[in-house]
Order: sequence, then structure tokens, then C-alpha cells
Amino acid sequence: MTARIIDGKAVAKKLRGEYQARVRRLMAGHALQPGLAVILVGSNPASRLYVSNKVRACEEIGIRSERIELPADIAEEALLAQIDRLNADPTVHGILVQLPLPPHIAMRRVLERISADKDVDGFHLYNVGGLMTGTTVFPPCTPYGVQKLLEHERVEIAGRNVVVVGASNIVGKPTAMMLMQQDATVCICHKLTRDLAIFTLLADILVVAAGVPNLIVPQMVRTGAVVIDVGINRLPDGRIVGDVDFEGVREKAALITPVPGGVGPMTVTMLLYNTLRSAERSVGVVDDHAPWENV
Ligand code: NAD
Repeated sequence: MTARIIDGKAVAKKLRGEYQARVRRLMAGHALQPGLAVILVGSNPASRLYVSNKVRACEEIGIRSERIELPADIAEEALLAQIDRLNADPTVHGILVQLPLPPHIAMRRVLERISADKDVDGFHLYNVGGLMTGTTVFPPCTPYGVQKLLEHERVEIAGRNVVVVGASNIVGKPTAMMLMQQDATVCICHKLTRDLAIFTLLADILVVAAGVPNLIVPQMVRTGAVVIDVGINRLPDGRIVGDVDFEGVREKAALITPVPGGVGPMTVTMLLYNTLRSAERSVGVVDDHAPWENV
């Protein structure tokens, strides 16, 4: 069996086109332009690049973006004051603080200060808690991207065995919770899991987010499985690879995401979507088609 490759770039492009049309409708029908504020503390080059990508993606679909750059030694209170200002600004529908933050700033205090109604990264405890009950307003962007890819490929989730490798707060755990809410049987593995293959072989849908190149080899994958590789790893020779031995596993799986070009492009796409949804919610527009939004 040779897997069909899930083209995350193409799915992201299609979705961004749909979201752009929705932005136009919102502007025409409600004179409302969605707005995203992105706060960058310090000058970490990777963070700077991520922020630039997010700002550019906003512009491409008509979301207004505000980039706020603050010095690395900013006092926590001053950062919180910026968030208070953005919380109160009706032209801002999403607030994102680029992580990581400098060590003298308490990340949780900062994330909790963002209004839950503008928490488009989905990191506020209110939205994290909502993942447990299936009522989160803003699912975190990478797990939401995985969800959208599965939806796009019409992968059945209810009753299937899902194994998530990786238990982080931003990828592994929320992905597992979202799929469990859709009646999958879910198992979460992590770096202390013994005999990882025993678990991965049970998976109809295998989601891997460990940050370890070649962690998943063909012998660990059930024939016909759907394999979603969230990992992004830079090899010493400069190549970017995921956590899955793509060429090997491709011969066994039914569907597989490549790296790059799989989950990666979906993450920013879902940030755009959460920001759009926040603006739509502010004027009472409801999307009946999305399982996470009817709260
Ligand atoms: P993390 O380091 O916070 O968490 C890694 C998780 O994997 C941990 O739970 C750890 O226990 C587990 N793990 C590590 N080694 C393992 C092993 N040998 N076997 C089983 N489990 C193991 O990382 P993260 O932030 O969750 O990111 C995971 C990967 O996904 C990274 O490669 C990261 O770059 C990538 N990522 C991609 C996107 C995207 O947009 N595609 C977004 C976020 C993260």
C-alpha cells in the first residue's frame, strides 16, 4: 500500500480563500474588519520570523494586524498593561503573545490576562478547560489544523483508535482531547512510554508531535493507518523533517502528511480562522458547520 499524501499547503490555501470571502462579507454586512494584535517581547530571531509570517498571512486575507514590539527587559506589569489596552479595544478581536517570554515574566499570568473572548491562540485556561467539555471557543491552532486536515480528508473519527505521540500542552494533549470529544478511543504516549510500538500499532489515526526525527518507522505503523506528522526538526545538514520516517511509512499508511507542507501551513491558517470567528462572534454571526463553535 502506498499512502495518499495530504497536501496541507493546498488545504490551507483553499481554507484561506474561504476565510478571505468571509472577511469581505463581514466588512460589507457589518462594516467590521477583523483585527489581530501580536505582541513580541525581545528579539529572538525565530519568534520574529513567526510573527512576520502571522502578520503577512493576516494581510493576505484582509485581517488588520497590529504588531507590538516590546524590549526583552520590559516589566511584567507594563506587558500586562498592553494586554489590558488591547482587551478594551473593540477593533482588536484577537490577541496573541508570541512565546517564549523572557524568564522574568510569568507566562501563565500573561496568558490569563488576555480576555478569553480574544484568546485566538487558545492558551487561556478558560479555553483549555473547554477542551475537556467540548465547549472551547478557540481551539489551539496546531491541533485545530490537524482536526481540519482530518475533516478535509473525510477521515472518520468516531469509534477509531487514535494514538497521539507527544503530550505537550500546545499540541499533544489538546489534539487528544479534541479527538476524544469526537468519540475516538484515544491513547497519549510520551517520552517515558515503554514499548511505544505496542501503542502506535493500535492506531487507526496516528498523530506524532514529539520533536524526534525518525521516531516512527514502518514497523510501528498499522497497514492502512492515517499518519499525521506534526514534528518539525532541522537536521545538521539543514533539511527540515518531521518525526515520521516519511518514505518508509508511506508504503504502509493509507494517508500521510509530509514535512514540510503538511500540518505546518495549517497552524497559521487556524489562527486566521480563530481571529475571523472572534470578529464574527462579536456581531452575533454563528457558524453552524464547525463542531467547536456552537457555544
Ligand atoms: P514539546 O517538546 O513541548 O513536547 C514533546 C512531547 O513529545 C513531550 O510530551 C515528550 O514527552 C514527547 N516525546 C519526546 N520524545 C519522545 C519519544 N522518544 N517518544 C515518545 N514521546 C516523546 O514539543 P511540542 O511543542 O509539543 O512540539 C512537538 C513537535 O511539533 C516539535 O517538533 C515542534 O517543532 C512541532 N510543532 C509543529 C507545529 C506546526 O505548526 N506544525 C506547531 C507546534 C509544534
